[in-house]
Amino acid sequence: MSISEALEILAAIPIPAFAVFSDDRIGAANEEAIVLLGSQILNRHYITALRQPGILTAIEDSVRTKDRALGTYTVTSESGTERYKVVATPLVNAGTLVCFENVSHLYAAGVMRRDFVANVSHELRTPLTAVVGFIETLRGPARNDPEAQDRFLGMMLNEAHRMNRLVDDLLSLSSVEAVERQRPSDPVSLHEILAASVASLARKAEVEDVEIDLDQPDTDIQLQGDHDQLRQVLNNLLENALKYGGQGGRIKVKVHKPEHDALLRARAAKIDVVDSGQGIDPIHLPRLTERFYRIDEHRSREMGGTGLGLAIVKHIVSRHRGRLEIDSVKGKGSRFSIIIPVF
Ligand code: ADP
Repeated sequence: MSISEALEILAAIPIPAFAVFSDDRIGAANEEAIVLLGSQILNRHYITALRQPGILTAIEDSVRTKDRALGTYTVTSESGTERYKVVATPLVNAGTLVCFENVSHLYAAGVMRRDFVANVSHELRTPLTAVVGFIETLRGPARNDPEAQDRFLGMMLNEAHRMNRLVDDLLSLSSVEAVERQRPSDPVSLHEILAASVASLARKAEVEDVEIDLDQPDTDIQLQGDHDQLRQVLNNLLENALKYGGQGGRIKVKVHKPEHDALLRARAAKIDVVDSGQGIDPIHLPRLTERFYRIDEHRSREMGGTGLGLAIVKHIVSRHRGRLEIDSVKGKGSRFSIIIPVF
């Protein structure tokens, strides 16, 4: 194959690709390959030009077996690591065609999946270890001590509830993710959702001696949404306000009249859940909606938290094409706002 023929074929390939000619030199490369590997690879022996075993083995295998061979190539720069799947294909009497498919997103998804499984296992193991410890105590030292038995059974029940909450939140998260790309279309009433959420937490608020103050326009706001999911958003935000902001004695839920939102480029309703509790150090704000991210793991557990509440909120709000904003001043309190388009 001549260089011009090779270049014509390579130019038609929309991913980085080059041809190793029969004399083992990289004889031609497309623009994408030059951007990825630099123009210095041209006319050099592929072994000196590439220097990564993952790709060299693929080219050697392809030459030796006269068949397609797979390999890997990694590029590390200041902006991170890009991973490529390399496909080396023999060309009849003309060398080898080498193509690079960027698989960084698949790799990142794999890492996320593994982290997620490790996190879930850790979250479940903690209460399970406690339960196993309690059972051993009940069968051993507390065998004949009804008072201790009662105490330990109470603690076991707490741990079992914790596992239940975790499983419930995991199921919520996965069902929200499953429909994330389907835009909800039911007509829903914000008045109804807010009234139901506040009512469902009224008892808890009373026990904590916290007042929930609901401030909303007289006329109802209607939007296209998923009633149950929006209730979950408000429940999670209100529960958090009670758990971490309840010391202020008052939680304010303020609904603003819908107006044009420049970021969403639509008319949108804004709902603020404001507490005057401990507040959040700004360094935590960008990570708060990550799964299992907690500022104080011990406190979150103590309050019955799973670390998934805000991740669920973020997914639901994004399914509704809205956004979540968090403002907080340490020591003064926090404001969680959801902004949702109104149709
Ligand atoms: P959790 O189940 O731990 O409450 P979330 O995802 O709901 O998980 O919240 C993540 C973390 O964000 C919490 O562990 C807590 O540290 C912090 N947080 C959430 N809401 C508030 C709030 N209103 N005030 C202070 N910190 C909060």
